[in-house]
Amino acid sequence: MSAPIAIDPSRCTGCGLCVKGCGFEALRLVEAPGANKLGRLAAVDEGACRACSACVNACKFKAISEVKREVVGTTDLDSYRDIWVFAEQTDGKIAEVAFELLTKGLELKAQRGNGCRLAAVLLGHALSDALIDQLSAVGADLVYVVDDPALAQYEPGVYTDALASLAKKYRPEVILAGATAIGRAFFARVAARLRTGLTADCTALKVEATENKTDGRTRLLLHQSRPAFGGNIMATIMTPNHRPQMATVRPKVFKKEKGKRKSEKGQGKSEKGQGRELKVGVEVEERRLGVEVIREEMRITESKVRTVEVVRDPDSVDITAAEVLVAGGRGLKNALNFVKLHELAGLLHGEVAASRAAVDAGWTTARRQVGQTGRTVAPRIYLAFGISGAIQHLEGIRGADRIIAVNNDPKAPIFDIADLGIVGDALEVIDTLIKELKK
Ligand SMILES: Cc1cc2nc3c(=O)[nH]c(=O)nc-3n(C[C@H](O)[C@H](O)[C@H](O)COP(=O)(O)OP(=O)(O)OC[C@H]3O[C@@H](n4cnc5c(N)ncnc54)[C@H](O)[C@@H]3O)c2cc1C
Repeated sequence: MSAPIAIDPSRCTGCGLCVKGCGFEALRLVEAPGANKLGRLAAVDEGACRACSACVNACKFKAISEVKREVVGTTDLDSYRDIWVFAEQTDGKIAEVAFELLTKGLELKAQRGNGCRLAAVLLGHALSDALIDQLSAVGADLVYVVDDPALAQYEPGVYTDALASLAKKYRPEVILAGATAIGRAFFARVAARLRTGLTADCTALKVEATENKTDGRTRLLLHQSRPAFGGNIMATIMTPNHRPQMATVRPKVFKKEKGKRKSEKGQGKSEKGQGRELKVGVEVEERRLGVEVIREEMRITESKVRTVEVVRDPDSVDITAAEVLVAGGRGLKNALNFVKLHELAGLLHGEVAASRAAVDAGWTTARRQVGQTGRTVAPRIYLAFGISGAIQHLEGIRGADRIIAVNNDPKAPIFDIADLGIVGDALEVIDTLIKELKK
């Protein structure tokens, strides 16, 4: 491997500015008697260098330059079109995040223009037409369906085969999936199979004209933004030289909009293949409301993994689905006080959530953690008790309609984003609320 930067020894003064400017400890000074006044030169550790160019900018003597690399990317970038959303379903129920992504997809489609279509991809077995209707109601222009016994249970290998084959054949420009346990696990495989990039856990997406530094042409590219460096900066990532452009987004980051299309009476029947040529192995049917459905038959290699039994975790909780969240942090002091929090949540028909500090202390489970390394939530009401409001926690609650914070420190950062702030003892407020609600 050659270094992504070149150091010109005739310009290097050995001053060490580049060493200070490097955030990855990839530069050091080495003894070089006679090379300059200080008798030392900058040297790069190729393994540690991330090609961020910070050293190029830090060097006042123009001794460091980027090494231009030949990019081996997708050769026919302009032949890709359409935006796809992976419509994750389990037991015949589509995950809410798929609808959220389709809603966002409509916006991206409008930004992309030029005949771009929004498609949903359904994988599974014995899939009902009702699922297709739900996807079309949110605004999908077409739905790809792969219905095969091998896809009855989610298994990363067979799901990867199915989605990668579809993408190779139909060449979408963008593919989005929810950053759920399923999406996270198999999307990375699909990206590797298609030899393209993947940005995980995006919090913002938009399509914008961007110049491609390799061929000098300007194209509409997907800008994929996500927090980086512990949430201290937002990084915008692009995939300029490869297709498809792939991203995952956590549930509740985007809002689902109510249906774009309404069912029309008398249009409920499928009109299979009407007015279309049927290709070998592919069944095309026109469905109601003008949505095209492409049922793809493919040979799916049987999984090396066999599901013997599916055991549901009785304690499983999905805090992202709750309308009311009652969250506790380190300020709650101990696990016993979380029992009170559960009582309050029950009275409010909500769920208990927590900061990472409370999870790390063992007062509740990681499933209930909100924030950058936990869940992103968007309840109607988020009650935060004894939570300071660290940036990593706030990252997970920006979608909440109302934030009510209780903290005994009036300067706690949570008050900066709270709609209602109560300066006081969290336990006193919890006890009072429980008493009043019981009345
Ligand atoms: C890479 C990375 C990822 C992270 N991801 C997450 C994440 O996903 N989620 C997350 O939450 N954190 C995350 N963190 C940790 C985060 O930085 C904070 O440390 C954490 O959120 C603090 O939790 P807390 O607010 O409960 O505790 P503290 O910051 O200790 O705050 C406790 C608060 O309770 C108040 N208090 C104390 N006693 C009382 C009382 N009797 N009544 C009322 N208030 C009281 C205090 O004034 C204080 O404001 C992450 C950190 C890193 C570095």
